[in-house]
Formats: sequence, C-alpha cells, structure tokens
Amino acid sequence: MILAAARNDTIRSLVATAPVSRDVVSRFVAGETTADAVAATRRLVDSGLAVTLDYLGEDTTDAIQAANTVDAYVELLEHLHAENLADRAEVSVKLSAVGQLLDEKLALDNAARICRAAQAAGTTVTLDMEDHTTTDSTLRVLGELRRTWPWVGAVLQAYLRRTVDDATRLATEGSRVRLCKGAYSEPETVAYPDTAEVDKSYVRCVNALLAGEGYPMFATHDPRLIRIIGERARVHGREPGGFEYQMLFGIRPEEQLRLARLGNTVRVYVPYGGEWYGYLMRRMAERPANTMFFLRAVMTRS
Ligand SMILES: Cc1cc2nc3c(=O)[nH]c(=O)nc-3n(C[C@H](O)[C@H](O)[C@H](O)COP(=O)(O)OP(=O)(O)OC[C@H]3O[C@@H](n4cnc5c(N)ncnc54)[C@H](O)[C@@H]3O)c2cc1C
Repeated sequence: MILAAARNDTIRSLVATAPVSRDVVSRFVAGETTADAVAATRRLVDSGLAVTLDYLGEDTTDAIQAANTVDAYVELLEHLHAENLADRAEVSVKLSAVGQLLDEKLALDNAARICRAAQAAGTTVTLDMEDHTTTDSTLRVLGELRRTWPWVGAVLQAYLRRTVDDATRLATEGSRVRLCKGAYSEPETVAYPDTAEVDKSYVRCVNALLAGEGYPMFATHDPRLIRIIGERARVHGREPGGFEYQMLFGIRPEEQLRLARLGNTVRVYVPYGGEWYGYLMRRMAERPANTMFFLRAVMTRS
C-alpha cells in the first residue's frame, strides 16, 4: 500500500511539502547538500564506520537531470578526496538516476564519468540494483564498467529467484558484491513472495559469495542473518577484513558500532539530496513501526 502511495502524485506532494517531513527525513537522510553529506561521513568515519553515499534521485527521464546527478557525484567525490575521507567512503549509484530509463548507453557513459572521478579521488563505486526489469541491463553496464574499473561493485537481491546463480557467477577474484534482500514490489514469477523463502535464498547466496573469491558486502539489519553471516564467514575461513557488513543510515546504529568494535568492517549507506521521497517510502514500506513514527509526528505537529 505504501509503495502504491509512493507513486500517487497527490500523496507525494502532500508528504514532500509537510513541514514535519523534514524532521522525519533527517532520521534516514543525511541532508540535502554536499556539505551535509560530507559532515555525516566525517561523523561516521570518526566513530569507526565506513560509508557509501547515495545522491538521491531515481527514475530520471530527462538527460539534463541525469547530467546534474553526475555533477553532484563528481563534486562529492572531490570533497571526499579533499577531506581525506576517500579511503573510508565510496559512492552508490542508481543507474535510473543517470539515464537508464532513457537509454542504457547514456547511463553507461554517465556512470563512467562517476567512475573516473572515483578513481581520481581514490575510492570506488557500487551500482545499486533496482526493480527486476532493470537487472539484466544493470549487470550489462556493470560488466562494461568493470573492463576499465574492476573495482565497480554490484548489488544482488536475495528475493529474486535468479540471484543464487548470479551470486555464483559474480563471486570471482576482485569482484565486490553487495547482497541485500531487495526493496521493490516484485511479482511471484520472479521473486519469492514469502519472507522465509527470501531468508533461505539470502543464506544460499551468503554461502555462494563466501565460497567464491570476491569481496562480499552483506547488507542487512536482520539479527538472525547477521549471526549466520558471522558463522558462515568463520567456516569459510574469512577474516574480518575479507568481507563487510552494510546497514542504512539511521537504522540500528548501535548494532553498526557493536559489529565495528568486534573488528568487522561496517559500512553505512548514507543517502542525501533533495529527492528523498521515494527512498523514504521504501523505508516506510519495510517497517510499520517507521510509518507509525511518521504518522505520530504528523499528528502531533499539525
Ligand atoms: C547498505 C544497503 C544497501 C542496499 N541497497 C539496496 C539495493 O541496491 N537494492 C535494493 O533493492 N535494496 C537495497 N537495500 C535494501 C534491502 O533490500 C532491504 O530492503 C532492507 O535492507 C531491509 O531488509 P533487511 O535485510 O534489513 O531485513 P528486514 O527483514 O527488512 O529487517 C530485519 C530487521 O532489521 C530492522 N529493520 C529493517 N528495516 C528497517 C527499517 N526500515 N527501519 C528500522 N528497522 C529496520 C528491524 O529490526 C527488522 O526486524 C539495501 C540495504 C542496505 C542495508
């Protein structure tokens, strides 16, 4: 229901313009500007965490807007470099924000500009994964980018039936792969409808990635999966530096610090920018408690 509401223009403009939205958004989004993003990165890095930054904006249907997104990433990367944060902070990019819906080649060229800037800054790029209609296109663009920048990271979604095969195929030397459950509303033909099935698929993919030669990045807040990942990593002889945990900004911050204190690499996904609506709605859809938090804030302020 929330994901459907997210596509409704009236609801969208109501939420986006409500004054209270700003307070709620700040729990999950670092701010609107490059300076906000860099300041949040500094705080996280100083507390022992690594970071991946996402300039919010998706489903771009305008080449100029796509180019503006690329400019925002380039500016961010220059600042990360100038502030000596690039060894602990990389960027995450949604191809739909840089033109994938218009033309795959445009998205490839735009993503390549971001990769060049990342290389110059001394850091890496991970391509976020969006709904299943874009999976093949995103993996094609990833393959092209990796010819020049083998460090470009991929994301796989455990809820897709195809993913264990993709995980096995991508688990090669030098290959950075983020595994998440998946955040889009998908049909049963391509995705497991049942959360227990998604969790089983996640564990199959954990094993495939740990058994391979790549660098797995396990993105989840799920306590049970985090425990299983730790156990499976030990079975596969992976030292803490041989894989990482990833979580979202503002979600389970104490757990992020606990895992880091145990010597693990923990990377926080930090979204920033003016286009926070779609991102916020996906976080609401995942967890009724977040929606209640939001509704309570609206009701007590209005
Ligand atoms: C670093 C990172 C990158 C991601 N990149 C992508 C991507 O490229 N493509 C994509 O489709 N999805 C992506 N996701 C989202 C992911 O697919 C899930 O939708 C999201 O992580 C929730 O799944 P979970 O594994 O945490 O498990 P869940 O079963 O959703 O949650 C397990 C527990 O975690 C806590 N929790 C989870 N979500 C929330 C929340 N919103 N607020 C508060 N507590 C919560 C709760 O304690 C909950 O019981 C990413 C997630 C992370 C952490």
